[in-house]
Amino acid sequence: MPFPSLGLAPALALAATDAGYLAPTAIQLAAVPAVLRGQDVLGLAQTGSGKTAAFSLPLLQRWAEAPRHRSRRAVHTLVLVPTRELAAQVGETLRILAQHLNERPKIVVLFGGVSVNPQMMALRGGADIVVATPGRLLDLLDHNALKIGDVAALVLDEADRLLDLGFAEELGRILALLPAQRQNLFFSATFVPAVEALAAQLLRDPLRIEVESTDATEPDIAQRAIEVDASRRTQLLRHLVQEQKWTRVLAFVATKHAAEIVADKLRKAGIEAEPFHGLLSQGKRTQVVADFKASRVQVVVATDLAARGIDIAQLPVVVNYDLPRSATDYVHRIGRTGRAGESGLAVSFIPAESEAHFRLIEKRQGLSVPRERIAGFEPVEVAVAPQAIESPANGGIKGKRPSKKDKLRAAAANKQP
Ligand code: AMP
Repeated sequence: MPFPSLGLAPALALAATDAGYLAPTAIQLAAVPAVLRGQDVLGLAQTGSGKTAAFSLPLLQRWAEAPRHRSRRAVHTLVLVPTRELAAQVGETLRILAQHLNERPKIVVLFGGVSVNPQMMALRGGADIVVATPGRLLDLLDHNALKIGDVAALVLDEADRLLDLGFAEELGRILALLPAQRQNLFFSATFVPAVEALAAQLLRDPLRIEVESTDATEPDIAQRAIEVDASRRTQLLRHLVQEQKWTRVLAFVATKHAAEIVADKLRKAGIEAEPFHGLLSQGKRTQVVADFKASRVQVVVATDLAARGIDIAQLPVVVNYDLPRSATDYVHRIGRTGRAGESGLAVSFIPAESEAHFRLIEKRQGLSVPRERIAGFEPVEVAVAPQAIESPANGGIKGKRPSKKDKLRAAAANKQP
């Protein structure tokens, strides 16, 4: 078994095998021995590289081997993450990897957007490992719900996103409360100057690990554009999921309402589908992500904003049920697939009224995606005159269908060179 050869205790190596990890990934090979030695680490790696286990496994071992005051639990390891979804995900990984330890650490996950009371309750009696988003952590520190003065190891996960999301000030306040003597692990997908400055401030003689990930340089994402009438997109999605045997699909829609409707229709057609949008409770959102990962849910129908926090490796298919508003959003969406060297597929549905918008996206991105038609789903609608379209991203809202006159006008316009 290769995991024990990294210096990991049998209980942790067993948990890694149980989790389905056959052999350590590149970042795990490099990081685990260094973290076990107590060295600082600077990891340039993307989600999908196995970085969560790369810090979780050795830090669990450091915790298990640390002398403890039995009377009082002090936070030993603090993991700071940018989003609540990532917090939940890291907490879950830690729990899974800790399952065979003789004594299991108390792991508490803290994030905003939900009531603070259950988190305060969870912190009663202390915690060994805390995974938190910076804002909520500060709230709880202000309420004296926990103390971080004895932290032995700090992890900044996705440091670039922490800074992107404007957490610099919060990070500064948190760092000021930590003891000077501690181990620091710093992970970031990009290394822009602000990230570099933060790393330089935090790390002492770090081991620098750079993981070449194929998706960072040349994503292996096949792009398809299928012409279909707006009114038949749900049927087409259902057809493709079933015919192509897609196991895990993230479908993007323009509105929360559309997310509900499309997921509902798919469910009625016998496909495990869930909506994912900002009006759902945090508990529900966490559940949907967990179910999606565990393959209990086959299709997640999401709005852009909500989907930003979903980090799922091995996402084979992304569908633009509604086109994104901008070319940048298009790249962001399709980048959800084809991670970590896996190949991915991004399918865009192009009703006649969205053709001009998709052409604009292609132009901005220097792309040319051939249009396809699927037998049995050939479009019959033609584009409406531009002034009759509310927004190209509205995705065929009812009542916006072209009238006969619109169709004749559009057909005439199409004939012109
Ligand atoms: P991360 O980069 O931490 O987001 O991990 C990406 C995915 O890789 C997660 O779904 C892990 O379960 C999985 N993973 C982590 N380590 C390994 C490994 N050694 N072998 C196979 N899969 C792994």
